[in-house]
Amino acid sequence: MTDLPGIVIAGASGRMGRMLLRAVVESPDARLVGAVERAGSEYIGKDAGVLIGEEDLGVTVTDDPLEAMAKAQAVIDFTSPAATVEFAALAAQARAVHVIGTTGLMPDDLAKIKAAARHAIVVRAGNMSLGVNLLTQLTKKVAAALDADFDIEIIEGHHRHKVDAPSGTALMLGEAAAEGRGVDHDEMAVRGRDGITGARERGTIGYSAIRGGDIVGEHDVLFAADGERIVLRHIATDRRIFARGALKAALWGQDKHPGEYDMVDVLGL
Ligand code: NAP
Repeated sequence: MTDLPGIVIAGASGRMGRMLLRAVVESPDARLVGAVERAGSEYIGKDAGVLIGEEDLGVTVTDDPLEAMAKAQAVIDFTSPAATVEFAALAAQARAVHVIGTTGLMPDDLAKIKAAARHAIVVRAGNMSLGVNLLTQLTKKVAAALDADFDIEIIEGHHRHKVDAPSGTALMLGEAAAEGRGVDHDEMAVRGRDGITGARERGTIGYSAIRGGDIVGEHDVLFAADGERIVLRHIATDRRIFARGALKAALWGQDKHPGEYDMVDVLGL
């Protein structure tokens, strides 16, 4: 039992943090060894069970990530870009697999994570679900099969609390489309339209974001030409899919060499 990989959940009181706690506690393949929250959180010093309505889990919520990671084989992190960059260095120091679900990471953040991955196993994906990762592969294939007569648009919807746009998943899909088409994503991306924007430029990849209510996550990849349209769609209805994927990544990473991986690697797609 104690041989099972020990997992730390960062941002344990967040929407995803609570899902992750439950996924680990219910898994026969892992054990919960730590729960980290921000200094000043009302949960510091309490048993992590209070976050998921369970009795005593025997893990106290802490604001000391390094102490928590020191006894862990993996840390699962769905927090904020600033916290994730800090945790990347600490996880590398603790030799724990770092599973990163946090989105909204900027090029500077990604460079720091890459540096940490020289000595550590990092699995990072803007979406940890099987369905979306399959959709990225399909998107790549369809984009490779069609020329620029087909305009590519990524339309995404999320709950009203989401702070970044386009979503990490939308960007994954846009990057897959660019790869399939053999173009540079950042050169082709159009990330918001307002006012007199002029006609759509051929070959661009457009993004639109809907924010409202409790939408868990919806993504369409639209290929629109004169006379026909193809729509590839994924609808998430339960955050458990992301938590299950993240735990799978944490277990998968145990025997890998240092480096940066994603869910396509984990799922073998
Ligand atoms: P959330 O409810 O705001 O949860 C984030 C948690 O992290 C909060 O409890 C927050 O605490 C905590 N946190 C922030 N900074 C911290 C620090 N320095 N130390 C410890 N804890 C810290 O957000 P969410 O909906 O769970 O989403 C979290 C992230 O995951 C977002 O970037 C989201 O886009 C992403 N996400 C990814 C996937 C995927 O499959 N990859 C799926 C869903 C969500 P405070 O509230 O005190 O700030």
